[in-house]
Amino acid sequence: MIIYLDGAFVPESEAKVSVFDHGLLYGDGVFEGIRAYDGRVFRLDEHIDRLYDSAKTIDMKVPITKEEFKEALLEVLRRNNLKDAYIRPVVTRGKGDLGLDPRKCPKPTIFIIATSWGAMYGDLYEKGLTAVSVSVRRNPAEALPPNVKSLNYLNNILAKIEANYKGGDEAIFFDTHGYVAEGSGDNIFVVKDGVIATPHTLNNLRGVTRKVALEVAASLGIGVEERNLGYFDLYTADEIFVTGTAAEVAPITKIDGRIVGDGHPGPVTRQLMAGFSAVTAKEGTPIF
Ligand code: PMP
Repeated sequence: MIIYLDGAFVPESEAKVSVFDHGLLYGDGVFEGIRAYDGRVFRLDEHIDRLYDSAKTIDMKVPITKEEFKEALLEVLRRNNLKDAYIRPVVTRGKGDLGLDPRKCPKPTIFIIATSWGAMYGDLYEKGLTAVSVSVRRNPAEALPPNVKSLNYLNNILAKIEANYKGGDEAIFFDTHGYVAEGSGDNIFVVKDGVIATPHTLNNLRGVTRKVALEVAASLGIGVEERNLGYFDLYTADEIFVTGTAAEVAPITKIDGRIVGDGHPGPVTRQLMAGFSAVTAKEGTPIF
């Protein structure tokens, strides 16, 4: 595997970062998760824009231009001969001392990993996922803006651990106000009487896949509401699904022990899954 690290393309065995890197010491850094389908990178500009916005919000200047970043990312795919891939660009604050102060970190570290990674949830796209709502609340926006896709994913990991103990494939976060926020690594939607509802992007990451799902719904003439959702909406939904780059569009057929709808992925979810596949099959930045 060839990895991009600070301007060089190196074998995995040589892709090493310092133990003094603040990405490691403090989760001080930002990242993206991107997929490539059949030789094209899906929504590359949107992901790179979000990466740079994340960096800007934490007052970190990415030391290369967006164009250079995109070219490095495409080159990683070429060097690994990957047409279908999951891509992980990371920018950390870089090497510093043991203190917190980012002024002691003169240069951000950049690396880009690309691997082949098929459907994240395997046969669950047919069967549906079991979700559990978790007691750990999503980090509030007042503490860390959710659109900073930061390396500090401990909040999400705690949610995942709780879901693991409770036998869930995915954790559903509530925010500190008691509203549904998102999954541990995806955005959430409910369907009721043929209308899709999803939380505002106040206490969740403004997902690229979420946006695609909204576009697909609009093109199919399915109504969408962005509004606050609570337990009531989850427990009375006809359908629930989550969206994310890794998860893609994934149906949830059980939540907190309750069966969603008839226990199978519903018609609206299926339309969205098919619509999403159709978009990924035709769009993207060519790799080769
Ligand atoms: N929320 C969280 C917490 C995530 O980690 C992700 C995955 N990046 C998403 C939502 C979905 O975002 P996207 O569709 O851009 O991958």
